[in-house]
Amino acid sequence: MTTKSISSAPLLEVRGLKTTFFTDDGLVDAVDGIEFKIMPGESLGIVGESGSGKSVTALSILRMLSKPGKIVDGSIKFRGEEILTMRENRLRELRGNDIAMIFQEPMTSLDPLYSVGNQIREAIHLHQGIRGTEANRAAIQALRDVGIERPEERINAYPHQLSGGMRQRVMIAIALSCRPELLIADEPTTALDVTIQAKILDLIDELRTERKMALILITHNMGIVAEMCDTVAVMYRGKIVEHNSVSEVFDHPKHPYTRALLASIPRLDSVPKQPLPIVQWQP
Ligand code: ADP
Ligand code: MG
Repeated sequence: MTTKSISSAPLLEVRGLKTTFFTDDGLVDAVDGIEFKIMPGESLGIVGESGSGKSVTALSILRMLSKPGKIVDGSIKFRGEEILTMRENRLRELRGNDIAMIFQEPMTSLDPLYSVGNQIREAIHLHQGIRGTEANRAAIQALRDVGIERPEERINAYPHQLSGGMRQRVMIAIALSCRPELLIADEPTTALDVTIQAKILDLIDELRTERKMALILITHNMGIVAEMCDTVAVMYRGKIVEHNSVSEVFDHPKHPYTRALLASIPRLDSVPKQPLPIVQWQP
């Protein structure tokens, strides 16, 4: 939960967003008229079953959709500036500096031909304008910040020499090297094992608190939402069917789909506190 003061102007404002896929079999409205706002420093969870439009929403925000997907209606404003009509060069600035995005599969986002150091230094150079030993020092610090041990050695590794968890940390380091105001994380840990998942989520949460960064966290895990988010939007077939504070949604879920999602969280409090009575077996 955020305790800092929140200014009244939204950081991101999405209105009437509609994204359609023009397939050979016809039109698919993957995102169908959604609206939401995020205040500076706020953390929004987007949940929903597979295929409900979460990733298409994330990709639409930065206009990163590929064919046959197209935004056909709506408005997406970042600090009041319309993204949907923005020029390419301004959009590139925004993507690097203000809004960062991390995806589920880190291997597809890192270049296998360059060392991780190379790729982080490049990002740092791009966003902070520093080079050489200064950039190298910043890159090592960025790796340290995401919990990578012995970053002086790891910085020379190539992506294939690192584990999935390490690669995802490197991606997070790159994403955060621009000090974004908004991080969009699309199932950032789904492909990783449970302990690494928890570490990376803790890390995102820590950095968020430290840097007062806003977060859109896409997940199908309501337990993660409960830990990390202020508000939650539930998507179902391209629409937001419920959007409220996390506590309100947990205590009074409105949509049947939300109730089903909540019921699927393993609950610690359902474990009996007393040992089970020993049943007398009688032949
Ligand atoms: P999720 O909530 O699992 O992230 P997506 O946002 O990826 O779901 O996809 C939402 C819907 O958009 C899918 O159910 C599918 O109908 C449609 N869709 C996504 N990508 C494509 C594509 N490349 N071609 C056609 N339809 C697509
Ligand atoms: Mg997805």
